Amino acid sequence: MTTDHGYPAVRMHIAGEWCQGGTGRTAPIVNPATEAPIGEVPLATAADLDRALAAAEEGFRRWRSTPIARRTEILHTAAALLTERAADIGRIMTLEQGKPLAEATGEARRVADTLRWHADDARRAYGRLIPSAPGTLLSVRREPVGVVAAFVPWNFPAGGPMRKISSALASGCSIVIKASEETPATAMELVRCFVDAGLPAGALNLVFGEPAEVSAHLIASPVTRLIAFTGSVPVGKLLAAEAGKVMKPSLMELGGHAPVIVCADADPVAAARKAAQAKFANAGQVCTSPSRFLVHASLVEEFTAEFVKVAEAVTVGDGLAEGTTMGPLANERRLAAMERLTADAVSRGAKVLTGGDRPDRPGYFFAPTVLTDVPPGAELMHEEPFGPLAPLVPFTDLDEALATANALPYGLAAYGFTRSAATAERLSAELEAGILSINHCGGSVHEAPSGGVKDSGYGREGGPEALDAYLVTKRVSHLLAP
Ligand code: NAD
Repeated sequence: MTTDHGYPAVRMHIAGEWCQGGTGRTAPIVNPATEAPIGEVPLATAADLDRALAAAEEGFRRWRSTPIARRTEILHTAAALLTERAADIGRIMTLEQGKPLAEATGEARRVADTLRWHADDARRAYGRLIPSAPGTLLSVRREPVGVVAAFVPWNFPAGGPMRKISSALASGCSIVIKASEETPATAMELVRCFVDAGLPAGALNLVFGEPAEVSAHLIASPVTRLIAFTGSVPVGKLLAAEAGKVMKPSLMELGGHAPVIVCADADPVAAARKAAQAKFANAGQVCTSPSRFLVHASLVEEFTAEFVKVAEAVTVGDGLAEGTTMGPLANERRLAAMERLTADAVSRGAKVLTGGDRPDRPGYFFAPTVLTDVPPGAELMHEEPFGPLAPLVPFTDLDEALATANALPYGLAAYGFTRSAATAERLSAELEAGILSINHCGGSVHEAPSGGVKDSGYGREGGPEALDAYLVTKRVSHLLAP
């Protein structure tokens, strides 16, 4: 069932059935480009969550005993359906999250490939035979960990859920996933592709609810064997502590505050262009978004001029409108944060070179903003902006730039621009980050792991490492003639 503007009626998926939840409690879903309500998301009760857990327990038994060739076939069918439906899913994503339609459709297509990659990789999740005493078979096996409880945010409504769902299902686990209540329909349409592909009931359960209630319930349940979370550092710490109390492993993909170091030998125009394009992608709401621009003093003028040029060329608007290159922020909280961070920086002496405010129109829009003379004490230099703010800071000495880059408790992404192989190696060795890009600001790829150090979390998603959290290692020593 869809509404007039093509936004579907949102349902949870529990034990193979689409449902609304016990008490009929809902929360409104808002289009961030218009602030108009577009639907209602059902909120789970404790009984709904228990049904999802029981279904996942049964679903795990069924799914892990499905031959791997059949599992892979189902996952590839789901990926094919996703590719076929990418345009429709993209439209739904734009309506609920705001990103431009081309970005949204591209994300829907990309997640099909994430799924294919993990499905194929899981076929090679080999154990090993270890030389041992005669008559003893010593082996190491990798087995699915069991029922996964996953929590994902609103910035990548397809990418966030798919990273968890694809790794879990490819490994033979079942999953109960709480996607964002702000972008629920994209997650629902992803789940629909798995259902239509023939995934056994219970292997994939989708719920929504009061986030703290849902996470407390799912983490404490003895049915759950792994907690997988993407979101903010404070919530990640809370969930990791809850998981620790019940001795559950967890995977934490948290925020960052990515430094970009533009060295004296870099091309300032090319660096500014790449860094600014990455900055304003998804309106800056990306955990790896470049967010502190440390530029060698000799290049600052040229770098700044080009950066401002790119910022001013961004077309801000409704993601469904032709020509829009940056949509609104996804919710009112981000808009308030942009206003607060900008006002704080300006009150401490920062200058706004372009942007700095919200346009006079409905929707959670904020202009692409470039600031200079931002003092180290400004909140913007410590707090992840998660929005289209770019503070540019000059440096004269690479030691000083590295110290500034590493000074924060975060360590997710970092970027460097240099023409020197030796400097690139120094940046690679000394930047405290889990994801480093040199001479570009490209996004994540399926083939390689993503994840953080320090407060940015632990565990890796993507690459062969993605399966590590979802598979347990079992040593079996078998004396053949007892
Ligand atoms: P938030 O901290 O309230 O929520 C972040 C996400 O966690 C949301 O999806 C929310 O539903 C969920 N959440 C909140 N409390 C939870 C709980 N107790 N149990 C389970 N899930 C819970 O912040 P927000 O306003 O939604 O986002 C703001 C900040 O979150 C940003 O500044 C950014 O730092 C961070 N964030 C990070 C990512 C990422 O990809 N790492 C994505 C989105 C947001």
